[in-house]
Amino acid sequence: MRSGEPGERPVSPVNVTFLGMPATRPFPRNAARAVRDSQLRFNLRKATRTIRARRASVVAEVPDWAALRDAGRAIKEHTLRNLDRYLLQLEEAVTAAGGHVHWAADAAEANEIVAGLVKATGETEVVKVKSMATQEIGLNEALLEHGITAYETDLAELIVQLGDDRPSHILVPAIHRNRAEIREIFAGRMAGWGRPAPEDLTDDPAALAEAARLHLRERFLKTKVAISGANFAVAETGTLVVLESEGNGRMCLTLPTTLISVVGIEKVLPSWRDLEVFLQLLPRSSTGERMNPYTSMWTGATEGQEFHLVLLDNGRTRVLADEVGRQALRCIRCSACLNVCPVYERTGGHAYGSVYPGPIGAILTPQLRGMSSELDRSLPYASSLCGACYDVCPVAIDIPSVLVDLRARSPHPWPERAGMAAAGWVLRRSGRLARMQRIGGRLRNLAPRRLPGPLAAWTDTRDLPEIPRESFRDWWDRTDGGRR
Ligand code: SF4
Repeated sequence: MRSGEPGERPVSPVNVTFLGMPATRPFPRNAARAVRDSQLRFNLRKATRTIRARRASVVAEVPDWAALRDAGRAIKEHTLRNLDRYLLQLEEAVTAAGGHVHWAADAAEANEIVAGLVKATGETEVVKVKSMATQEIGLNEALLEHGITAYETDLAELIVQLGDDRPSHILVPAIHRNRAEIREIFAGRMAGWGRPAPEDLTDDPAALAEAARLHLRERFLKTKVAISGANFAVAETGTLVVLESEGNGRMCLTLPTTLISVVGIEKVLPSWRDLEVFLQLLPRSSTGERMNPYTSMWTGATEGQEFHLVLLDNGRTRVLADEVGRQALRCIRCSACLNVCPVYERTGGHAYGSVYPGPIGAILTPQLRGMSSELDRSLPYASSLCGACYDVCPVAIDIPSVLVDLRARSPHPWPERAGMAAAGWVLRRSGRLARMQRIGGRLRNLAPRRLPGPLAAWTDTRDLPEIPRESFRDWWDRTDGGRR
């Protein structure tokens, strides 16, 4: 356990989010610490390999996967190009169906809107369906400042919340925990949050699931306000769609008398016909299932339930204005790119210092937050550029290209800038290059085997290429292309 005695309620009844994380420690330092944790690496390797294999097998079953992927990319591209039109259509449809639409420019505005809506109900507790958008804006902490406690109901989010921990994966937020650790968290912390875990709780997965089910069932039945995100929002009818695997989403979405959904503006789709494509792409890419177990859809307010939709910008329109980076907004948060990433598999999600870890986090976070912190500037380098993320992405986001673009835009130290400027000056003219090659050939014996000073880290794991005695051009001229 990280803190507290068994049964003791945590000091701060929210799951710790990345808002409070020092944003100054760059990725390499976070990663160096993570890779020293052998238990973490074991948990990650086991989990990512399992999901990866499942995804590969169910994707291989679909003969037109490439066409489906292309359709997903094209639909998202079209929607993003006409985002203003589809968002207004969505607002009109939700309002016509009895819902209320709110527009939030940033995290602070979204949090104020949600807190105001909850306070208007007179309630001080809310249940939540797993939602990346609410984690992105730090909603749980903001609600707590207003005296409102948010209870996570997704099993993995519950583990994270009870463990006073941070999510480390988009789809499996507690991927870094094994079942023995989960048993310890449940046994020690559940009582402080509601129904306690059974005395004889074991680390058998069925026993752990049953303990969570009983704990959550009590919560569902007594809480009057729910907060969700949405995987998709269909503009033509104003329908919101949530995909989940446990049924907790359905409980949250149907039982409470007030439902508030916080949804990023990029989640809109024009029509049901478009939705059909994503209902095939998402389950296979995320959990490796042919079909999603629980798909909930609702349109506006229903009898006995008030509905509010908060449309969140929080940097998305800025990303949309970027010609290279905007493709990150196509993301459907399937997490396939995380599961194939060799960097993520070794470091886990916490090293990324953001609610969005892995390859998608490395391109989305610096764009949403800007590159003012050392951490955000380091994220585009959290990749080997192997391209595995692009290969599996169901909406064909070219993550390596965006990473390279962001690297070019992040500030570089003056020696690097000076070195690149000098290299550019030499390479611009073939005569200059030939002269430099000849000088290099003459001085080759003076060239160091290892780079000096701060550059030494580069040659710690690589050999510096030897400077040839004679350049290829000179050899070609001397031998007439090898004929003499
Ligand atoms: S970038 Fe692609 S693969 Fe990664 S989470 Fe988003 S949709 Fe999935």
